Amino acid sequence: MARPTEQEIAAMTPMLRQFYDLKNKAEDAILFFRMGDFYEIFGDDAEEVAPKLDIIITSRERGDKQKILFCGVPHHSAQGYWLKLLSLGYKIAIADQVEDPSTAKGLVARDIVRVLTPGCIDELEGLSSDSQNYIFALWQDPKQKEWTMAVADVSTSELRLGSTSSLEDVLKEIPLFRPREILARGFQIPKLKEMLSASHSDQKIVFSPLPEAALRDEGEQNVTISKLFGDKNLKSQPCGEVPGGKALLSALFVYLKSLKAPVDQFLTVRPLKEKDSMALSDIAVRDLEIFETARRRQSEGSLFRTVNATLTPMGGRLLRWSFSHPFSNEKSIQARHDAIDILLKEGETKLLVLRGHLKMTADLSRIATRIQSRRASPIELGKVRSTLSGLLAVEKTIPRSSPIFNGISEAILKTRPTFETLFSFLKDEPGLMGQGSDVFKSGFDGLLDEKVMLARGGEGAILAYEEKLKLETGITSLKIKSHQSFGLLIEVTKSHLSKVPSHFIRRQTMVNCERFLTMELKELDETLASARDQAILREAVLFENVMTELTAFLPEIYALGDAVGELDLIQSFAWHALKHDFVRPTLNPKTGLLLTGSRHPVVEHFLGRSKYVPNHIELTPDKKLLLITGPNMAGKSTVMRQVAVSAILCQIGAFVPAVKAHLPVFDQIFTRVGASDDLASGQSTFMVEMNEASLILRQATEKSLVILDEVGRGTSTQDGLAIASAILEDIAKRLQSWCLFATHYHELVPVAGQLSGVSLVKTEVEQTNSGIHFTHRLIPGASESSFGIEVAKLAGMPEHVLNSAKLFLETSSQSESKSESKTASQFPLMETPVRASEPIEKSLNPAPSASLDKNEPQGFAAPEGDLEDSMSELISKLESLNLNRMTPLQALNQLAELKEMLRPQNHAKPRGLFDLPAH
Ligand code: ATP
Repeated sequence: MARPTEQEIAAMTPMLRQFYDLKNKAEDAILFFRMGDFYEIFGDDAEEVAPKLDIIITSRERGDKQKILFCGVPHHSAQGYWLKLLSLGYKIAIADQVEDPSTAKGLVARDIVRVLTPGCIDELEGLSSDSQNYIFALWQDPKQKEWTMAVADVSTSELRLGSTSSLEDVLKEIPLFRPREILARGFQIPKLKEMLSASHSDQKIVFSPLPEAALRDEGEQNVTISKLFGDKNLKSQPCGEVPGGKALLSALFVYLKSLKAPVDQFLTVRPLKEKDSMALSDIAVRDLEIFETARRRQSEGSLFRTVNATLTPMGGRLLRWSFSHPFSNEKSIQARHDAIDILLKEGETKLLVLRGHLKMTADLSRIATRIQSRRASPIELGKVRSTLSGLLAVEKTIPRSSPIFNGISEAILKTRPTFETLFSFLKDEPGLMGQGSDVFKSGFDGLLDEKVMLARGGEGAILAYEEKLKLETGITSLKIKSHQSFGLLIEVTKSHLSKVPSHFIRRQTMVNCERFLTMELKELDETLASARDQAILREAVLFENVMTELTAFLPEIYALGDAVGELDLIQSFAWHALKHDFVRPTLNPKTGLLLTGSRHPVVEHFLGRSKYVPNHIELTPDKKLLLITGPNMAGKSTVMRQVAVSAILCQIGAFVPAVKAHLPVFDQIFTRVGASDDLASGQSTFMVEMNEASLILRQATEKSLVILDEVGRGTSTQDGLAIASAILEDIAKRLQSWCLFATHYHELVPVAGQLSGVSLVKTEVEQTNSGIHFTHRLIPGASESSFGIEVAKLAGMPEHVLNSAKLFLETSSQSESKSESKTASQFPLMETPVRASEPIEKSLNPAPSASLDKNEPQGFAAPEGDLEDSMSELISKLESLNLNRMTPLQALNQLAELKEMLRPQNHAKPRGLFDLPAH
């Protein structure tokens, strides 16, 4: 349905003209227009959201003989509908009546009182308690050429600022925060949308334009910044001076204010990247399934969900933050490890008591913001008070022996005045505003008590009057009841109507009764209504005053929110360590990386402790790279991920799932795992793989941990092998990063043998009478086969396909073994043994996995004559090679080429290779 033209709007009813006036102010939002007890939605907006909200859409006259679509929701349940639309990525403008309808002349004035956007919500019901709700702003100052980034959570007061020289870095930063909304200059939004569509988050992101004028008006920027932070420079803030920072913050605040959102809660500006932390890339977050599973994108099955034993919203959010920003400095890691140790030494009973208290903790940071914006309810204040009272009690039991705990105790004690203030006025169980008597304790305010008494007294007077009428009239069933439109009325059943005295004035006739009024009752009603109104009014004024008084305590409440988050995080780590046998890691790069009895917490959680096979993984400073080979499904990916997960757990300050752990502090953790197309950004599987691998090669250092799983598998075997080999060599020789490298290219084993820093391990396979069995244990050495066909069989691959595959494998391995047996002694790579225990021939010449079933037909060898021709060609080619001038990689490529010459299709077409075997 097209938007009506100006001319059409001019011909509409005054109310619809008012609607479109307001709609012009909030073009990109769904406008909820207050009419009596409903919020109405008109025109295109109605058509758009009615199906999403599952509400009936209809139409009405619009004043020019045409109709307009509309739908509506009751005002008391509107919030639920708003939150639903926000979760779907809509913006919402709320237009309320801004004058009293009873005194308004003509059409009641309405205005937009608030705009809700997905990145700007402070209603607790609309927010997930354990995630931040970020709005991310970015711009490039034309004078500085730097990109400035600001990230804010309106609901918790978190505000961060930073800058970088490249847009590429900005694009990497954004997914880390998983923002719900992005603010950028209007003309840059389409391009940004396109570039970010490739980001791995499934969250809907809303884009909004930055207010341009605010980006340019330096005078206004100085005023805004000094008003909020007491200084027109950001130098004294934890973020320090940031190029373009003042302009961006100022524009962000102008935007928030335009939504009528609070901004005073932002007390400090933190740096985007804390000095002592590293930013985990969005690729590692995805590959290690930290917040959601890679395939289904569910939080169930994620690392976060599995190890999260926090009990407060602040603890949950801190855990989430920690996972995407692990510490990179030893001191911060040790401080948390020390604190966990202390809690564990205190014993399980004390830990249980602490957990019991924390369970009752309210969302202090978010309620504080609601106090700031005067939107907190008495019930929320009640929650803050009981939280403070609980924490003041638990403070006595907090151990004194670590700086972390001392800081937490201090933060709790500082909130005693807040607690006392709340205690002084708030009822024990405060109710909702609007009754006059459910919020404040009696004795707090004389005037309120008086009005409440009067209202209560009025109620008593009505009861007394009812008794008096019963006596006077002899109608024992007579009742005084309150009715919405008529106020207090006397109800008399039909059978007693004859006894009704003449001064009763008839007001309503019902099926079984009639309702009357008397002058005395009318007066009583008015006194009662006025006393109640005055009590409600007084209550509202008092509540506004105490909220203002409470704002003085907000810094302490925010600080307590942070402290409780830290306490909760530590108890969560301690609890998980206790319940799942996690161990404190020793941080020592000199001893290298040692994990004994190491497990993957998520896989173990799903398999069950008894079924999970722990592993031993060891890397030393002079053997920092582990080449892992082994069959499909034998546990290579799992073991590599568990090393990365253990490193991350260690660096967020938690214990790790192992019996013994020594870990270096890594500066970055990189992963390249699995295959994924990025169709949205037009990248193929292989392109994504190469992008991610090249990023690692450009950024990893000797202090980084690199996990590479089957790199090179997205292209042809030859190309993939060549690339995998080159990457392996580069990491071992140039980068010297800590690295786990899993591959099905057994040809990499001899390459690894020539690299001094590489050890070989494989996943163990046991041959049993019933077939092969994967023990999931890592053992030294290199694997001989991938058992791919066996795994395909387990996966239910049709029998005829399996048979064809086996035939193919046998044919190619027979021709390979013939060529290799003639050339082995002349090939340079083969002169260097990989390991005493691992004969080169064995690694290069995979044991025919077809031997898994020895009764299978042996396939189709190539005709002898063709093979002989190829062999003489091959020998002359070999003779022409100058081995002394070749690198291992060139030699490997040459070997691949020679093998290619021997492939059956290069000398004769194997008969029936792809035919189904005769049954
Ligand atoms: P592929 O080469 O096909 O990718 P893979 O060797 O990487 O396979 P994984 O994906 O790591 O194998 O593991 C396959 C399955 O084996 C896992 O989903 C898990 O169920 C099980 N598994 C892995 N490691 C262990 C272990 N240590 N103990 C018990 N089960 C395990």
